[in-house]
Formats: sequence, structure tokens, C-alpha cells
Amino acid sequence: MRVWTIKEPGSREQLTLENRDRPEPKDGEILIQIKAASINRTDTMTRQNQSLVKPYPILGVEVSGVVIENQSSDSRLDPGTKVAGLVNHGGYAEYVTMPADRAIIFHDSLSMEEAVAIPEVFLTAYQTLYWLGELKPKQKVLIHAGGSGVGTAAIQLARHLSEACIFTTAGQDHKLSVAKELGADHVINYKEESFDKIVSNLTDNKGVDVILDFVGASYWDKNLSSCALDARWVLIGALGGTTVEQVSLMQLMQKRISLKGTLLTPRSDDYKAELTKEFVEKAMPLIEAGTIKPIIHSVLPFEEAKEAHRQMEDNENTGKIILRVSE
Ligand code: NAP
Repeated sequence: MRVWTIKEPGSREQLTLENRDRPEPKDGEILIQIKAASINRTDTMTRQNQSLVKPYPILGVEVSGVVIENQSSDSRLDPGTKVAGLVNHGGYAEYVTMPADRAIIFHDSLSMEEAVAIPEVFLTAYQTLYWLGELKPKQKVLIHAGGSGVGTAAIQLARHLSEACIFTTAGQDHKLSVAKELGADHVINYKEESFDKIVSNLTDNKGVDVILDFVGASYWDKNLSSCALDARWVLIGALGGTTVEQVSLMQLMQKRISLKGTLLTPRSDDYKAELTKEFVEKAMPLIEAGTIKPIIHSVLPFEEAKEAHRQMEDNENTGKIILRVSE
């Protein structure tokens, strides 16, 4: 089968199409013929990871497609079933295996491209808002990168599952328009305005209950001042750097802030299965009904993985970038 891997860790010019053997499903797994695969920041980071050793992995952590072999006891996953879900690498390929308890079964209301836009960003957003952020109905949440894959998912979950009051930031006005359409109450262009001042003004200086933070170091002080008493601040990315100079711990203590970090990709199979199960129960009915929408920026042919990585690294996308693997 054809797969995308790397010649050596580095720039997107290192991406290379190779032929590898089709994987064999083990007990408890399904074999999927992939129809679509999504691009994620974890792929661009894996591509550059200098500590990788050969044979280099097949990139890609999420797919949609059709089950062609079921080695689990779950008869809902028999051949022909349409599934999407997270894989432990191997997504930019024609076939992949997946633990059966992680498969998201979907129906004709969703296309393969819409389905592949769900797992990584919606599971991350769900885990961050509810398992780590403990967002309660009608609370206030600040979601950064409001036009990102995770951001567009988080805004919709917070709107439809929690009726939250949603603040969001982005660096481009068309991304803010999309965020507003998806349910954000207050949209802030971080290149033109200070989000902490706006949060403070619109909350009577109280701040927000939850922050979904992709940015890290460059937003440290502003996030700190945007936190309400007992806020949960969840760090899931470091697009603005990893090192913070001169941290004062006093405000963390005074505001009783819980600061949590997480990475989904290295979590255990059991964790991903449990997260998928709860997400399917709580959110998939709203997605299949069209109330919550997977947001797609572009769908490219399988051969255009380098262009797909370029779009993400140039911050062009609002929502997901997808490779169409087969018809
Ligand atoms: P994405 O769709 O590529 O969107 C990221 C957006 O962030 C960019 O388009 C850009 O939008 C904004 N951005 C980039 N650099 C920035 C900076 N320095 N300051 C402020 N905004 C910046 O990304 P995604 O796939 O949704 O992922 C979003 C983040 O979550 C990534 O950092 C990713 O690694 C992380 N993530 C973490 C987990 C986890 O488990 N921890 C899981 C999935 C994703 P603007 O045009 O608005 O600047």
C-alpha cells in the first residue's frame, strides 16, 4: 500500500511516498480501508522530531473509512461498516488497523471527509472542556485559536452541550466570523486588541471559569489575568512558546487556579477508548443531526501531503485540512 513517511526528520520537503505492507489486525482490532485522513499539528511535529529512529513512522493519527476485517467481538463493526477514529500513527496510508473500542461508527448523514474531521479535534476539545476543564452549564470559557480545528470544535461543544458564555481569539477576521457563526459570544482579534482587557470589561473584572490554551508562553500574563476565582486553565499547545520568564505564583494561589497540561496522542489505548465512548454518547447525536458541524478548510488529493502541511504551517486553515485517500 502507498503511505506517507519521511526521508529524514525536518521540513515538509522530507515527506515521501513509499510502499509498505498492509497491516494485519490483531485480536480486538479492525482493519480499515482508508477513504480520508486528516492533518494535525502532531503530524508536523512528528515530521520534525529529531529523536525518531528508522524505520520512520507512517504519519497520521486519524482516519475515516470502511471496515474490511473485524477481529473484535463487536458485531456492529463487521465488514462494510463506516468508521472514523484515532490511530496510533499510520493514518496517511491506504489501510490501517485500529483498536475496535475506539471506532466511531457513522451513518449516511456524514461524508467520509466530514467524519475524518471529527476524532482528533472533537475528542481533544471534549476532553479539555469537560474532563480537565470541568466546564459547567452557563459558565464562561475563553477558547483561543477560535478558527483552529480544535477551536471550532470547542466553540460548538461549549455552545450546544453547556450553553456557555464563550470568548474566543483569532488573528484573522474571517476566522472570527466563523467562530461567531458557530456560537462564540465575544470574538477578539488578538493582533488588534488585548483579550485580557476585553474579558475583564465584559465580566465585571471577574474573569472566565475555563481557558482552553493552545498558545502558552506568549499568553501567560494575559491568561493569568483572565482567570476567575477557581478557574481551570488547560494547556494543550504551545504555539506561542514553551518558556515563561519571571513567573509570579502569587496570582495562581490567590485565584485558586488549576493549571493542567495534556497531550492526547501519547495517552493510553484505554483512555482513548473511554473518551471516545463518552463523546459518542454525548456529542455524536448532535453531529449526526447537523446541529454541530465538522468544519473543513480543504480537501486535497492523497498525493498533496506537502501542500496540506504547508497550509497548516502557514496558519491558513479555518477548521480541518483533509487528504482524500480513495473514492
Ligand atoms: P490548527 O487548525 O492548525 O490551528 C492553529 C491556529 O492557531 C493557527 O491557524 C493560528 O490561527 C493560531 N496560532 C498559531 N500560532 C499562534 C500564536 N503564536 N499565537 C496565537 N495564535 C496562534 O490547529 P489544531 O489542529 O486545531 O491544533 C491547535 C493546537 O492544539 C495546536 O497547538 C495543537 O498542537 C494542539 N493540540 C493539542 C492536543 C493535545 O492533546 N494537547 C490535541 C490536538 C491539538 P490565527 O490565524 O488565528 O493566528
